[in-house]
Amino acid sequence: MDLGIAGKRALVCASSKGLGRGCAEALAAEGVHVTLNARGAEALEATAEELRAYGVDVTAVACDVTTAEGQKQVLQAAGQIDILVTNAGGPPPGMWHDWNREDFIAALDANMLTPIALMKASLPGMMERGWGRVVNITSQSVKAPIPVLGLSNAARTGLTGYVAGTARQVAEKGVTINNLLPGIHATDRAVSLDTGVMKAQGITMEEATAQRQAGIPARRYGTAAEFGAACAFLCSQHAGFIVGQNILLDGGGTNATI
Ligand code: NAP
Repeated sequence: MDLGIAGKRALVCASSKGLGRGCAEALAAEGVHVTLNARGAEALEATAEELRAYGVDVTAVACDVTTAEGQKQVLQAAGQIDILVTNAGGPPPGMWHDWNREDFIAALDANMLTPIALMKASLPGMMERGWGRVVNITSQSVKAPIPVLGLSNAARTGLTGYVAGTARQVAEKGVTINNLLPGIHATDRAVSLDTGVMKAQGITMEEATAQRQAGIPARRYGTAAEFGAACAFLCSQHAGFIVGQNILLDGGGTNATI
């Protein structure tokens, strides 16, 4: 299927590795020019070089996208943004009584206020041009809380509420905003959460991974390529009537009827 977005310009945040990279690569494969971002310059440059093989313009911006300065840098480098994919690292796990005000502010900054700032900066141009796509990478924890990820549960649900209203305010201008909710995917984040289970339960890494896979009906972790393909479809011409949705990519892990 031709997604009909060749020549569009995308900003994909937090995209040197993992799910962000999966999204950037799927868009580049469709002929979309991409601006990539991550804090670490080395992995970012390596990814940028690989994506240039698709024959598209690839700009790499090494900065922390959760800071005001970082947001300024990515927006400046991206120029016209037709497609915005927001993403950043997830907050650390812990118990409900562990977190203080600063921890909550950091989680809100990274996983709620950063995507909101980037949307506020790019939506006006999209609306003026009559076409735009925003995909926010959130989490399965929005639909069903993950108790040890209280900071993530809280911040991402706040973003979800903002998107629910905003998506319905911009849709008439040809702009769609949707959220993709990853369940467990085989990325560095999964390794770090598996490591947490391993340490907490005094088991091996293999046992920790097997335990978490057993809770997924598909009995495996998702891949960044699968995630990226879903993102590219949401950014396509064909997805113009999908507005304000929260789409789970979790191998059936969230046990719910709808
Ligand atoms: P990942 O493999 O850890 O990749 C994170 C990517 O984001 C890297 O390129 C990293 O590069 C970049 N990054 C992190 N913080 C950044 C920041 N402040 N500014 C700019 N770039 C940043 O993570 P992932 O698994 O792809 O997850 C992506 C998002 O989905 C996270 O928010 C995660 O919590 C959420 N999620 C993931 C899963 C899963 O199973 N993988 C499940 C549910 C939710 P640098 O470190 O060099 O900056």
